[in-house]
Amino acid sequence: MNWRERLKRWTVPVVDHPSRGARAPAGMHHFQRERDGEYVRFHLRVEPDGRSLLIACAAEAVLLSPAGTSAVWTILSGKPAAQLPDETTAAITRLLDEIGTPDSRYPILQIEDPDIGGRRFGLTPIQADLLFDGESSPFALLDRLWTAQIPHARIRPTAVDAHVGAKLVDAVVHAEDVGMIAGLLAPAHALLQSDVLEQLAAAGLDYVAVPCAVSQSMHQTIFAEDQRDVREVMRRVRSLEMTPVLQVPLFGSTAESLDDVLPTWLEQGVGYLEVYALASPPATNQHSGAADQQTSLKAQPTHEQQSTHGEPNDQPLQYQELRQLAAWIEELSGQHESTIAWLPPLLVPSGGSPSELAKAGPRAGGPLSIRIERDGSVVPSAGPYVATGNLLRQPWSDIWRHPAYQAIRQRRREATFCDQCPRLEVCVMGCPADTTFWAAPQPGAANLAGGA
Ligand code: SF4
Repeated sequence: MNWRERLKRWTVPVVDHPSRGARAPAGMHHFQRERDGEYVRFHLRVEPDGRSLLIACAAEAVLLSPAGTSAVWTILSGKPAAQLPDETTAAITRLLDEIGTPDSRYPILQIEDPDIGGRRFGLTPIQADLLFDGESSPFALLDRLWTAQIPHARIRPTAVDAHVGAKLVDAVVHAEDVGMIAGLLAPAHALLQSDVLEQLAAAGLDYVAVPCAVSQSMHQTIFAEDQRDVREVMRRVRSLEMTPVLQVPLFGSTAESLDDVLPTWLEQGVGYLEVYALASPPATNQHSGAADQQTSLKAQPTHEQQSTHGEPNDQPLQYQELRQLAAWIEELSGQHESTIAWLPPLLVPSGGSPSELAKAGPRAGGPLSIRIERDGSVVPSAGPYVATGNLLRQPWSDIWRHPAYQAIRQRRREATFCDQCPRLEVCVMGCPADTTFWAAPQPGAANLAGGA
């Protein structure tokens, strides 16, 4: 199931008459509601215009009209529902009883679609990738994120020794106390050194993502570990009732092998993948925007530089290939009933090595995410690597006004579908072949956490 289905599966409540429920205050709210003997978590982010985003179990989301927001707020906050029309109460109760499943806690990453929510929300980020070295306390950053109405923090440690492991557990406990969705991104071998996974599960961690190249040989080259480490981490994560996620770099000929390995990963219980392409931009006299339709979409991507010996090569994809790659990824996701999230591609500079850049991983999560460096600097998920402010020293509203976000918002408003391409989910967040929506590498990035 792809992200759009996880959003679309639920009808946005349409209440034709004006709401008579309590008015929900703008901001982020966290609720728990008993269901079948378990507590289900809800995040309700109310926008200033009264619409809202409701996230259930950190896994499924629904966009609510102002009237729907008011009704959901009334019921979740335990206020008297007598003033709501009976059919509204019944519809909202049904929604709250059905949305979200306790065994899949992988947050949706891209949710803005005019087909689903009407005019675009212009949503601020919903996720932050938090770089973490175990030295500075992340508590203040987590609190600032919550105040900024960013409910999902994914922690990316530089290492997972005993010291960092203990701090990680503290950070997850704090995130859970605040009410946040908490994830972890770390190399598999680092998570096998101790019982840190067990401690993190007990602290309430929602999911664990580990990097995984498509082929064993490329995995060894990039991440200096055997893929057996990945399988073992995924097994332990599942047994601890967290959600396992693989984060997969796509470049060279290995991209084409994704459909060979995907069934095996699914058999091992991994239903969530994040993929990011490593690609070359067009030459300066070429156009990379949506109107450039030179490459036809095929059932699968074809890569001109495939090794004749079947060995994976280390070449970036070409920008034109990303449309067909994105289309194929969406097809794969549907065929295999898995969730494959498309992260902003990483731009490979001329002469650059994709496998070297993949060591640092993607800049952040999906398009509606940000990266927070260890000193609190905030970097957008796409575009040039630029610090747009410091979350420890500035209010989020100031940071959000930075020209880098204004440029991305403007380009997203213009983003549209084109006649020659199939309608791709990712298009609403920007054409995959448009380098505006790619992430330029961080200068000096040398490891997964991006800290050289
Ligand atoms: S339909 Fe989507 S992938 Fe195709 S050119 Fe337009 S924006 Fe790009």
